[in-house]
Amino acid sequence: MKAIILSDFGGPSQLRVEEVPTPVAGPHDVLVQVEAAGVCHHDLLHRAGKLAGAPKGVILGHEVAGRVVATGAAVSTLQVGDRITGYQRRFCGQCRDCLRGRQDLCRAVSLPAVDTEGAYAQYIRLPAVSAIRIPDNVSFQQAALASCPIGTAMRALISQAGLTAGETVLVNGASGGLGVHQIQIARALGAHVIAVTGDNAKASRLEELGASSVVVARDGNYSAEVWNKTGKKGVDVAMENLGSTLPQTLRATGMGGRIVVLGNIAPGAVEVSPGLLIGRRLRVQGSGSATLDEVSQSLAMIASGLVRPQIDRVMPFTQAAQAHALLEARQVNGRIILSGW
Ligand SMILES: [Zn+2]
Ligand SMILES: [Zn+2]
Repeated sequence: MKAIILSDFGGPSQLRVEEVPTPVAGPHDVLVQVEAAGVCHHDLLHRAGKLAGAPKGVILGHEVAGRVVATGAAVSTLQVGDRITGYQRRFCGQCRDCLRGRQDLCRAVSLPAVDTEGAYAQYIRLPAVSAIRIPDNVSFQQAALASCPIGTAMRALISQAGLTAGETVLVNGASGGLGVHQIQIARALGAHVIAVTGDNAKASRLEELGASSVVVARDGNYSAEVWNKTGKKGVDVAMENLGSTLPQTLRATGMGGRIVVLGNIAPGAVEVSPGLLIGRRLRVQGSGSATLDEVSQSLAMIASGLVRPQIDRVMPFTQAAQAHALLEARQVNGRIILSGW
């Protein structure tokens, strides 16, 4: 089969089209013909060598949808021809966390990582438990975003932050893959969204998606404006999608606020004032990926039209390097989807 191989750590040109053996489904696996793959910021970090322990010489991509073309002997839940999306990471199904439905906490690091035998390929082998059927009215391209970023956004807003109707939520990096979906989910829950973007040209799109107001902060300073927009009370909930802006987000959050950190665009340390955390009784939580259950919920929200997957453009797999370059240059609203060769 054809696949995009990460030949070495570095720039987008390290992504090369190569001919590799087509994977064979083990007894508990399905083989999936890839119809759509999302390009995630996580892929960029891996490619650049910024993820500790991540290997090179691999196939990237954990946002996948396609059609089952073969099933392992022990698989009884899926059939050839089924349309599926893949859960975004591997899990063991047997540990304490998996057994209580928290696949996002599983430490099954010895299993082949999803970013080792990934979705930038004609075929992908997936454990059958990681393959989730797609509703008929959801396209492959939409479904590729159900796990990450939409499931990740749902987990952060609902399960971690416990966002409720009437609350105000700050979404930064609002035009990115997480932000454009968080805005829609928060609106569906009845919350008010203050979206923060660095680009004035992206503001109207964010309002169309459901943001109550948009703060344009080219220099990354937005806490004062958000503070004023909330009548100097601060937001109830904040989605920190960038990482480096956490100090700004903390200052924009009001008494008893919940801050969920789920993006780390430029890995590094930030300064946090303990006095601010204590004074405002803030709760800062990390979050990443979603549970299997949350992926099913995200597919249901897509099927019902409450969340519209934001696809910036569709490019052939052979242009994976260009797709990475576009995302790196922040020229993307939502996600780029790779589809077709
Ligand atoms: Zn992703
Ligand atoms: Zn586990």
